[in-house]
Formats: sequence, C-alpha cells, structure tokens
Amino acid sequence: PTMAHSKALLVLENFIGGKFVPCSSYIDSYNPSTGDVYCRVPDSGKEEVEAAVKAAKDAFPIWSSKTPLERSQILNKLADLIERDLEAFAQAESKDQGKTITFARTVDIPRAAHNFRFFASSILHHVTECTEMPSMGCVHYTSRAPVGVAGLISPWNLPLYLLTWKIAPAIACGNTVVAKPSEMTSVTAWMMCKLLEKAGVPPGVVNVVFGTGAKAGEALVCHPDVPLISFTGSTLTAQRITERSAPHCKRLSLELGGKNPAIIFDDADLSQCIPTTVRSSFANQGEICLCTSRIFVQRGIYSEFLKRFVAEAKKWKTGNPSDPSTDVGALISKEHLEKVRNYVKKAQAEGARVLCGEGVDPLALPPGNQKGYFMLPTVIVEVKDESCCMQEEIFGPVTCVVAFDTEEEVIQRANGVKYGLAATVWSSNVGRVHRVAHRLQSGLVWTNCWLVRDLNLPFGGMKASGIGREGAKDSYEFFTEVKTITIKH
Ligand code: NAD
Repeated sequence: PTMAHSKALLVLENFIGGKFVPCSSYIDSYNPSTGDVYCRVPDSGKEEVEAAVKAAKDAFPIWSSKTPLERSQILNKLADLIERDLEAFAQAESKDQGKTITFARTVDIPRAAHNFRFFASSILHHVTECTEMPSMGCVHYTSRAPVGVAGLISPWNLPLYLLTWKIAPAIACGNTVVAKPSEMTSVTAWMMCKLLEKAGVPPGVVNVVFGTGAKAGEALVCHPDVPLISFTGSTLTAQRITERSAPHCKRLSLELGGKNPAIIFDDADLSQCIPTTVRSSFANQGEICLCTSRIFVQRGIYSEFLKRFVAEAKKWKTGNPSDPSTDVGALISKEHLEKVRNYVKKAQAEGARVLCGEGVDPLALPPGNQKGYFMLPTVIVEVKDESCCMQEEIFGPVTCVVAFDTEEEVIQRANGVKYGLAATVWSSNVGRVHRVAHRLQSGLVWTNCWLVRDLNLPFGGMKASGIGREGAKDSYEFFTEVKTITIKH
C-alpha cells in the first residue's frame, strides 16, 4: 500500500499478559464488501505464542483458585461491556467479515455477549457424582478441576460468536487461554481484549495471538504446555491439528464442516418450511456450518415446493452489507467466492440446471461495492447425489434441490455423505419425525424448524463433522479434568 493508504489502515496488536504488544510482521486483511485492504493483522509465530502461553501459565494459579462465583461475576461484567458496545462490535464484524449489519446486530454480537452470560450462570450449577459402597465402608465421589492453558482456534464465519463460545466456558471453568481467531476476521477479538481489564479479567487469563493457521495456529497446537485444543473450522485443518497434537496426547474438541440435508415430506407445512429453508440455505451467505445445502423434497410436492422456494430465494436482496435491508452480504474472500462459483460451474458441466442466482440473474451492486465478493442465492436442480455439489461442503449461498419417493430411500441418501453435523426434517406426522430423526447420522436434527438452540444441550457433529460436543455440560467436561476419590470410613 502507498503511504497515504497505509496511514488509514487499522493496525491490530497481540494481547499478551494483559498488554497490547506489536508484532514484527503483519498480514493484510480485506473488507470483503469493497475488496480494499483496510486492516493489518499481526503475523504471529512461535515467539509470540511462546510469550502468550507463558503469560497464561503464570496467570493459571490465581485464576483457577478463584471461586466459580467470582469468575461468574467477571464473565457477566464482560457480557455487559460487549452489550454496551454492541453497535460498534456489529459494525466491525460486518466490515471485517462481509456479513450484513442486520445479522451482526441480531445474531453475532448478542450471542457473543450471551455466551459469557450463559457460562457465568451454568458454571454455578454443576454437581459432581457420588456413590456409596456400604459393604466396603466406602463412598466414592468425583471432583473436577481446570486443566491449565487452553488453546482456542476459531474460523471466520461467525468470528466473535464462535470465539467467545470457547473462551467463556474455558475461563468459567478456571482455565487460562491463548486464543487464535481466523486471520481473515480478527478485529472483534481485538476489540474484546480492550474490555477485559475493565471487566476484571486478570492479566494473562485471556491472551489473543493473531496470525495464520500455518504459523500461529500450528505453534499453539504444537506447544507442549497447552494440553487442550478446542478447534472450530474445516475437516482438513482438523486432520492436520490431530496429527500435530498427537505426539503430546492433547485433548481435542473438533467442530467441523457439514453437508446438511433438509428432508421435506409431502405433509409438511410449506408456509413455514419454505421461508425457513430459504433462511437455512442462505443466512450469512450460506457461511454457517449448519446451513442446508441438500434439500430432499417428496415427489408429490416437488414442483410446487421448487416454484415457491425459488420465488422466495429471489426476494433476498444481495448487496451493501451496511444497508439494514440487505439480506445477503459479501463472501469472505475473493478466493472463497471463486471456489463457490466453481462448484456451480461444475454442476452445470455435469448437466445440472441453475434455477436462480449465479450466472442466471443479474447482480446489481452499488458503485462502492463493485469490487466486493458478492454472489446471489443460487438454487441448483437435476443434480446427482454423487456430484461434488451434493457431497462436498460449499460454504456459500448455494443449495441443491432433489426429489425423493420413500422414507427409507431418503434416509439412505441423506446419510450418504462423509459429514454428519445438522439435518432438518419437515413433516406433520409425529411418528415419522421421530423415526427419521433417530436414523439420521447427524449430531443435530431440527424438525419443523432450524437453528433453535438450547445451549444447555450438546452441540457437535458425527463422522467427518467433528469429535466431541459443546454445551453447558459438555464444555464443562471438556475444560475440566475429573478425578474419582474414594473415602473409607
Ligand atoms: P479453517 O479450517 O481454514 O480455519 C479455521 C481456523 O484454523 C483459522 O483460525 C485458521 O487460521 C486455523 N488454522 C488453519 N490451519 C491451521 C493449522 N495447520 N494449525 C492450526 N490452526 C490452523 O476453516 P475456515 O475456512 O476458517 O472456516 C470454515 C470452516 O469451519 C467450514 O468447514 C465450516 O463448516 C467450519 N465451521 C464449523 C462449525 C461447527 O461448529 N461445526 C462452525 C463454524 C464453522
């Protein structure tokens, strides 16, 4: 960048031991809705990770010895501060990620605050187990203790939302953390660091190291003093992390990709199903691990469904993310946009038809967004189950619609991918809903709704979608070490 250009750039710093520290090199971060470089992110490596792990280790004795109530009060204060600054966080998330301001205001940032509030509360209510063995004169009980320094690695699609979903339980349980957000979306994590001291989080409890996966991420994964790694991202990266952490026998939590089916039976209430399935396909530009990308519709209602679904998808307005009436913002990067477009091209080359969106409808963008990474909601039909569009995670505003005949057939086809994260089932037959839900290979099944979450309950995927679960009890168990103690009286 030119001097005049670089002056205007936002420059982030690592947050280590309660202080912002500059880095020796930086990487560019783009505004996806304009294509401009607007921010520089530390390109951290081993040295920075080493300093952060040391700070986290030093902070552990004091933080882990605080009572759950003391930690709870601090987490609640942090939630208050994020809520106080909600608008600034939402603006930053939208600019950094490309998502619409409306989504950032109503989903990302409120949930980030809620993550702290939720674990501030749930940490107060765990009970441990106890059993009696009268014949031996013994009672057994379990106790749980924080583990140490947790390494937290998060993706770019829901930046602060997913990072806080890890930080909150980790520190609520008494661990200290070194977090590494995605190099493409680091700004809101940096903004959160500015609130930690005021919230009462002692220095070193939360450290944030910015940079790429290959450098900063791997340094964290390979660090011998980080016994826990909680990762959300792609299946490919998870394989690499598993390999790199294996020599240290680290405890891993892996939240990975999906290729989520929606199964729509002919007795479904289409007035509910259609708008929800459009949302589950295209919300956040289709960049949510839970987004629907394979829609199976029972043959009797296939044409009607398709007509209404496409009409509804076409209503979604694509463009400037800071316009509150926009439904679809920009995709994360130029490379990602290319990748998503290529899936559509491949499908067409295989003989599939694009009913709306990419290459079919005109995309009119305001003058300031001409170089942004935009794509219209795209619906593909006449696509085979073996096609890469039906097998691989696209992670963009693209969904495939296919017909099916029987319950048995659709269960087999829905399960016929390597992933198993989330599924939706639409039917007014309660018996069928239960039967199908039980047989789907999917960590989450939503029937007659989508993305209705109770954070108390387990969240996570089967098969290539992950290992482990997150939630009130599951995250507590992941972020603590259990011990069984036997007392003879
Ligand atoms: P990604 O795997 O490319 O990156 C995720 C994070 O890992 C980033 O911070 C990245 O810098 C880091 N990383 C990359 N290589 C690394 C390495 N070798 N060692 C350590 N860290 C490394 O994923 P992404 O493209 O940022 O995110 C999109 C993916 O995340 C999609 O597959 C999506 O389904 C998945 N996702 C899953 C969930 C879930 O809860 N299951 C939620 C959101 C996103």
